[in-house]
Amino acid sequence: MSKEFSYWTRNNLIDSIDGDIFDVLVIGGGIVGAGIIKGLSELGIKAMLTDKGDFASGTSSGSSKLIHGGLRYLQQGRLGYSRTLLKERNYLLKNSSVVQKIWFNLLVDKYSWKKWEIRTGLFLYSLLGGEITIPKFYKNKGEYHNSITGYFKFYDGQTDDSRLVLYNVIDAYNNGAYCFNYLSVIAITIKGQIAELTLKDELRGKVIKVSAKVVINAAGPWSERVIKMAGYELNGKFRLSKGIHIIYDRNALPITDGVILGSHLDNRQVLIIPWKNVLVIGTTDRFVDDPDDTSVKQEDINYLIENVARVFPDIKRAKMLASYSGIRPLFGEGSSPTKISRDFSLTENGPIISVLGGKISDYRRVSKRVIGMICARLSLKINLKDVPKVNFASAMSKRTYEYMIRFECAIKPEDILRRREGTEIYDPESLEAKRKEVLAAFKKLNVNT
Ligand SMILES: Cc1cc2nc3c(=O)[nH]c(=O)nc-3n(C[C@H](O)[C@H](O)[C@H](O)COP(=O)(O)OP(=O)(O)OC[C@H]3O[C@@H](n4cnc5c(N)ncnc54)[C@H](O)[C@@H]3O)c2cc1C
Repeated sequence: MSKEFSYWTRNNLIDSIDGDIFDVLVIGGGIVGAGIIKGLSELGIKAMLTDKGDFASGTSSGSSKLIHGGLRYLQQGRLGYSRTLLKERNYLLKNSSVVQKIWFNLLVDKYSWKKWEIRTGLFLYSLLGGEITIPKFYKNKGEYHNSITGYFKFYDGQTDDSRLVLYNVIDAYNNGAYCFNYLSVIAITIKGQIAELTLKDELRGKVIKVSAKVVINAAGPWSERVIKMAGYELNGKFRLSKGIHIIYDRNALPITDGVILGSHLDNRQVLIIPWKNVLVIGTTDRFVDDPDDTSVKQEDINYLIENVARVFPDIKRAKMLASYSGIRPLFGEGSSPTKISRDFSLTENGPIISVLGGKISDYRRVSKRVIGMICARLSLKINLKDVPKVNFASAMSKRTYEYMIRFECAIKPEDILRRREGTEIYDPESLEAKRKEVLAAFKKLNVNT
């Protein structure tokens, strides 16, 4: 049975922890922080997670929602990384009810990778994923524009990124972890082996202090800011890259499986991903400086539409329903974002362990690695097999708005419309009607923030 997890329980708990000492404090309620707090809660370690916005309000609600091995990493020679990701993909497909298989058609034409490259790549991809599949070429029999000679099929995994975060956080909370949204870390003071953190309640303006033996910096694109806040400097290059997606009705294009096409503009891959009622089309990859700038630029929308229109000219007549963006945290050298490794790095500064970069697909591996480091620091000898668990007591198919407010700590309309239900992306046509219902639910429960 779920415990109440609401605006009211949140406020009471914030008021009760002023001056407390935690074993672990996790900064950031994206997928990395969520996986870590879930694992810590399974081990009974006294831990707290805090996010300056809602859970999953950063990059973890702006992804392509794929749990994948990154076919393109093979082309870059990153075989080991792809193998690791494929192991994670397979584990999640097998063990988690919130990750499903998705099939892709990889189109072949003069802008795609060459046919032999795709054949070799997909064979290797299957081998690295623990299978032996001889890739089959299917001729284009009129399904696609006549410039496409044919396609290869392969599969990966797919999930609801913000829901995956929420399931981890809610389960962790039900296991006894302290989890707060809209509570920012605004200052960190190192006192010997311990960190003292100043936290600001973004809803009520209240400021409290807590201490922690270990601090996990899982602040995604804001990670370097957190390191600097504690008075340290990052050794290495931390970069940010923005990616956007545009949303169309699922029937806007005549496809059932996902489609990957080569860009005639810059040789990248553009993905058309069927998801719930819509098609998610992405993505771009441009360096940016500001982790808070999630604006979607018209030139990026045009880039995606132009690429898709080459194969599906009808897209120009269809209505774009919505768009969203996310900021990738990248750690490493590279002249363009695509050249920088997507693998995560861990750095240590006094009581702070920082996670830099990484992928949703890899969240379980990064969580386990960080939890191992925490256990070593706290002198705990614990078997970490299957930590964090990937099946979620909080994952259920139907929830009312009232339930999301009372048991999933939804505090603002967008917490429901963007992340818990995702109407803004998955059902944008009914957004205004749903907004009214959501506002009525908040009013009924007396939450007006
Ligand atoms: C366009 C795009 C597509 C992608 N597609 C995929 C994909 O298909 N598959 C895949 O595996 N990966 C994908 N990724 C990568 C993946 O989305 C990210 O690596 C992942 O979401 C990062 O998670 P995170 O927890 O590190 O960061 P975030 O999700 O950004 O979480 C960090 C959190 O820290 C909080 N925070 C920051 N500062 C503070 C503070 N001072 N106090 C309190 N809280 C703070 C923020 O509010 C935020 O919620 C994609 C990324 C992008 C941008």
